[in-house]
Amino acid sequence: MSDERLRLAIQKSGRLSDGSFELLKSCGLTISRGRDKLYGRVQEMPIDVMLLRDDDIPAFVADNACDIGIVGQNVFEEELLSGIHDTPANEVMELGFARCRLMLAAPKEWSFDGATMLAGKRIATSYPALTKAWLEAESVDSKVVMMKGSVEVAPRLKIADAVCDIVSTGATLDANGLKPVATVFESQAILIRNALKFSPEKQAIFDALLKRINGVLRSRDAKYIMMNAPRSAVAAITEFLPGADAPTVLELAGNPEKVAIHAVCGESVFWDTLEELKKLGASAILVLPIEKMMP
Ligand code: ATP
Ligand code: MG
Repeated sequence: MSDERLRLAIQKSGRLSDGSFELLKSCGLTISRGRDKLYGRVQEMPIDVMLLRDDDIPAFVADNACDIGIVGQNVFEEELLSGIHDTPANEVMELGFARCRLMLAAPKEWSFDGATMLAGKRIATSYPALTKAWLEAESVDSKVVMMKGSVEVAPRLKIADAVCDIVSTGATLDANGLKPVATVFESQAILIRNALKFSPEKQAIFDALLKRINGVLRSRDAKYIMMNAPRSAVAAITEFLPGADAPTVLELAGNPEKVAIHAVCGESVFWDTLEELKKLGASAILVLPIEKMMP
C-alpha cells in the first residue's frame, strides 16, 4: 500500500481558519493536532495539515512544500500579479466563505467623483499589485505606497492621501475619518494547488477530497422540500421549484385529487418561494436541510 499523503496548508488562526476547519469538518474530516500545533493529521483520509500564517500559504503551495491550500483570493491574486513565483499555484475553486472586499477609501471631506480624482495622489495599501492593476484599468496615474499594516492611519499621518484596504463593516475606516469610494477586488476563500502533476496516489486522494468539498458546497444552499398539492398543479409547481430536478410525486391515501410532491431544491428556498407555492395550490409545505449530497 502507498504511504503517499496529500499536504494541505490552512491558516493557523485568523479570519480564514474557522471557515477552513468547518469545511473540513463538514467533509467528515477530523484533524489531530500535533503538540507544536503547526502540523496535524486528518484521521479519515491520508491528508497532512500544515497550520500557517495566511500570507505564507501561496508560497508554500507554489514551492511544493504543500500540495494544496486554502487562502484568501486577495492574498493569492496579489502574489500572482506581483509575479514573485516562477511557477505559481493554481486556483482550483471558490469556497464561499471569508468574503470581503478590497476597497479604495478617501478622506470623508472629499466629494469623490471618480477614479480620476486620484491622479497624482498617494495611496497606501498592503495590496500594491491589486491596487496598481485597478488604477491601470481606470487609466489613473497615482503613487502606491506599500504598508504592511495599519493602512487606515496613513492619511492622518500624511503618509498618503487615500488608502486601499480590506473592508467588511467600514467601522475602522470611519474611525479614521475615511469613507469607502470604490471596490478594487471582491474576495473569498479559495482552494489552490501546486502546478506540478500529482502522483496517481496523490491525485486519487485529491479527487476524493474535491468530491467531498463539492458535496458540502452543493448541499449548503440545497433543501429538501415536501408539500401536498392538487394533481392539476403538479406541472406548474415543478416548473417553479428553484433548481430542482424532476420531483417525486406520490399518491395520498384516500384522496385521488391530491398528491404529495417531494423535491431537492439546489438553490435557496425563501419565504417568498413558499408564498408562491401556496398561490399555486400547495399546502402543508415542509422545507428540510440537507446534510450531505453526492450526485
Ligand atoms: P495571519 O496571522 O495568518 O497572517 P492576518 O491577520 O494576515 O492573519 P486575517 O485578518 O486573519 O489575516 O485575514 C485573513 C484573510 O481573511 C484575509 O486575507 C481575507 O482574505 C479574509 N478577510 C479579511 N478580513 C475579512 C473580513 N472582515 N471578513 C471576512 N474575511 C476577511
Ligand atoms: Mg497575514
